[in-house]
Amino acid sequence: MTEKKTSIELKKLNKSFGDIDAVNDVSLKITESDFFTILGPSGCGKSTILRLIAGLEVQDSGSIIINNRDCSFVPANERPVNMVFQSYALFPHLNVRENIEFGLKLKKISGKDIKIRVEEILELVKMDGYEFKLPSELSGGQRQRVALARAIVNKPQILLLDEPLSALDANLRMEMQQELVNIQRNLKMTFMLVTHDQDEALSISSKIAIMENGKIIETNTATNMYEYPSKKFSAEFLGRINIIDGTSSVIDNKMIFNSYAFGKINLKHNIKLPKNGLLGIRPEKIIIDTETNKHRNRVGMNGVITNWTYYGDISYITIELKNKTKFYINVQNIHRNSLQELNLGKKLSASFDINDLIILEK
Ligand code: ADP
Ligand code: MG
Repeated sequence: MTEKKTSIELKKLNKSFGDIDAVNDVSLKITESDFFTILGPSGCGKSTILRLIAGLEVQDSGSIIINNRDCSFVPANERPVNMVFQSYALFPHLNVRENIEFGLKLKKISGKDIKIRVEEILELVKMDGYEFKLPSELSGGQRQRVALARAIVNKPQILLLDEPLSALDANLRMEMQQELVNIQRNLKMTFMLVTHDQDEALSISSKIAIMENGKIIETNTATNMYEYPSKKFSAEFLGRINIIDGTSSVIDNKMIFNSYAFGKINLKHNIKLPKNGLLGIRPEKIIIDTETNKHRNRVGMNGVITNWTYYGDISYITIELKNKTKFYINVQNIHRNSLQELNLGKKLSASFDINDLIILEK
């Protein structure tokens, strides 16, 4: 297999506004045809990173390499990227076709070629038949598709997407997420998206970088970021997690974690706990036991249900142990007639496999 090229490389990028470090020493490498997502809370600096890459903002220091060319000071219109904004930014007085062909006309492409390209793109974003409608006659989802079409019709090698789906309602958002993935695969372009929505990040990305306060906390493939995060912040930001605090010690060459919640956990030999290490377990990895599960790889707990949220297919429950520690457990609602087992105040035993523990740095 040939080595994939790097599309975007950020080197020690910094940008502040007054005393806010919006982007703080960010270094990242995004590979060709990645669907790369930056996930982080509102205000952490996601849009600023995209704006810097697009050349809409100038960095204080650091560099931006796009397709092996140092673009740090290249004007926005000469960078091989295109950007889709959260607010669509369509021209209200132009119809769908005119909105999409606007950029092509500026590039002085022939009328015949423009027509072919616009038709291809309209089909790709499933908007054929709407070419003569004005943006005001379209739904939010349709407008977003037109914005997307306008961005990809120029065939940029890199597409930057700033929370492009956040204005859409839940069902349409899921549909568009799938379409974005399909479009990205079809066109083999590099997509870089920023969002604060963890489900969106997980379901569409090949790689995820977690960002907090201007800094990238860690980067990994989407599945590894959920299954093997290494920082407490990213573990908590991407999905729900039970944090198990305690101290670790090595006794007879064995790593022992003395958890405050349920005493000693014998960790596997190959588990290396960092100083100040914590353990984490995802709620779906904890299983309710009919009787206390004594298997040697399992850690058991007994508690009382203090909260139950029913989502139809799944229930989120919280149990409280004798020592008041709380654990979140996700339960598949497999049988209708076992739902009454989840009532508030019911006692239950649950356990998890130590192989599913996550090792975290505080
Ligand atoms: P996000 O997209 O993650 O919500 P932004 O990149 O928009 O975050 O903003 C990061 C921080 O920088 C925020 O504190 C924001 O208020 C600040 N900021 C962004 N743009 C400007 C600007 N043009 N002037 C002043 N402060 C800004
Ligand atoms: Mg933003």
